[in-house]
Amino acid sequence: MANKSKFQAIKGTRDLLPPETALWNRVEQTAREVFGTFGFGEIRLPLFEPTELFSRSIGLDTDVVSKEMYSWVDNAVPRLGSLADVVISWPDPIQTEDQFSAYKRYVSDFVKELERAIDSDELPKSPVNKQALQDVKEKFETLSQASVDMPEGKKLAGECVKAIRLAVRFAELGDYLTLRPEATASVCRAYIEHSLQQLPQPVKLYYIGPMFRRERPQKGRYRQFYQIGAEVLGGQDAPGVDAEVIEMLMTFFDKLDLEGIELDINSIGHNFPSCRPAYVELLRAELTKVRDQLGPDSQRRIDTNPLRVLDSKVESEQAIIATLPHIADHLCPECAAHYAAVKQQLQLRGVIYRENWRLVRGLDYYTRTTFEITAQGLGSQNAVCGGGRYDGLVELLGGAPTRAIGFAIGEDRLILSLQQQARASATASEAAAGASRVTLPSSLDVYIAWMGEHAYATAVRAAKDLRQAGFSVELPPTELKFGKALSHADKLSAKFALILGDNEVSEGLWTLKTLADGTQQKLPEPALIEHLRNSLGPL
Ligand code: ATP
Ligand code: MG
Repeated sequence: MANKSKFQAIKGTRDLLPPETALWNRVEQTAREVFGTFGFGEIRLPLFEPTELFSRSIGLDTDVVSKEMYSWVDNAVPRLGSLADVVISWPDPIQTEDQFSAYKRYVSDFVKELERAIDSDELPKSPVNKQALQDVKEKFETLSQASVDMPEGKKLAGECVKAIRLAVRFAELGDYLTLRPEATASVCRAYIEHSLQQLPQPVKLYYIGPMFRRERPQKGRYRQFYQIGAEVLGGQDAPGVDAEVIEMLMTFFDKLDLEGIELDINSIGHNFPSCRPAYVELLRAELTKVRDQLGPDSQRRIDTNPLRVLDSKVESEQAIIATLPHIADHLCPECAAHYAAVKQQLQLRGVIYRENWRLVRGLDYYTRTTFEITAQGLGSQNAVCGGGRYDGLVELLGGAPTRAIGFAIGEDRLILSLQQQARASATASEAAAGASRVTLPSSLDVYIAWMGEHAYATAVRAAKDLRQAGFSVELPPTELKFGKALSHADKLSAKFALILGDNEVSEGLWTLKTLADGTQQKLPEPALIEHLRNSLGPL
């Protein structure tokens, strides 16, 4: 039975353990190599940023911003934060005189502390804070005159408590921070912050790391998950840029031997000056006609963001959505030419794609090309990569107008798909060979079985030399009888056991046992490394 510990990983987070982490490393190393050949350099970003960076760039009407972000107030003055928590969460209604006077004490402390923090510049002298201070002070005065003995007093106190709560909530007691749900916004922030537009354009960056979204955990969907992403910022919006980014992705999946992936592409036109707004209006008009047949989310989106109705996975809406107009038929001549050229450039690069008119990004700063890649063995969470052009984002975040395109790969899902594929082919070859289980290749080259004090000193030296030569070595820290040591070596699936007893040390001839077939040979020390290299191949 598994050990039950008091502490367990938080729901939706996971420990990744060896040997699985070797696969993660291989995937990441492959990304580094492939992206490097396309001229991308790595950017390492903070794991948390101001909340507004995400709410502005991802959009308020998205699942991510409206319900999936891990956000908090980073209290600049911790005592004030605790007082605010108490004042906001005080049980309402206040019943007794004792509770009432305790509450007043907390409010009074809060007012004093807020005033002091604003005066001493520990908190911003912002209009919001000044207003909050004034509101809390005013209501506190009224509250002080109320008495909870009488029903009217109770009512008045209740109103004051509500007003104080609201005012305290509005105070800016620190920075609003969020664990990053994605990294594109951070890359753009860094591009602006470090004036990267002054470098030769475009700037090509990639990142690898964890993202955080409060989602319902299930296969392929976690609360801490990993993305490998890349962004091209600045320069032109030539179709060759879009095609090359997609080519890079496909090269990456190809290098990983990931089978059965499918690439969907689309163009969603330009928001300004021309084609998308007219299409969105047309879509809205068409959707309005069938409003009654749509679910509540899609109904709301007719008003807020009709494009996002096309994203809907609701079964009963699919037949209606199939009849809606396609954006490809409504692109302006420039966008249509761009889209045609992207497709032609993909063909030039031998990239196979499928057009999917429903692939949209519902935000204004997205332009033209969008794409998504799906993989096998993932059930309904089968998207392993999403990407597109976002020419308006850098400007939205306060930078100069900047062309940009990028993608994010869901690494967890990519790994799941690779594992699924390996399992399927193992099952096939097992069936063919009649084998009963899949054995993992061992990563341990040499186990040093030693006995005796002299032998130990030699074993330590041998371990050092072998490791320096690049072999992985296990050296037991305490003396074991040879039989025990060799069975330990077997359990660790070592390839060789180096046997060092006092005889070997005094003769200068070491015994090397090949564990797969049990054969043994004596080697002089200087020949050992050469011999291992020959049998294990280049490291
Ligand atoms: P989905 O529709 O599956 O929720 P998304 O549109 O929210 O995906 P993006 O924001 O485009 O996803 O992120 C790019 C990729 O990151 C996705 O294609 C997916 O592979 C991966 N991803 C997104 N959310 C999660 C998650 N909670 N757990 C694991 N991987 C995720
Ligand atoms: Mg999602």
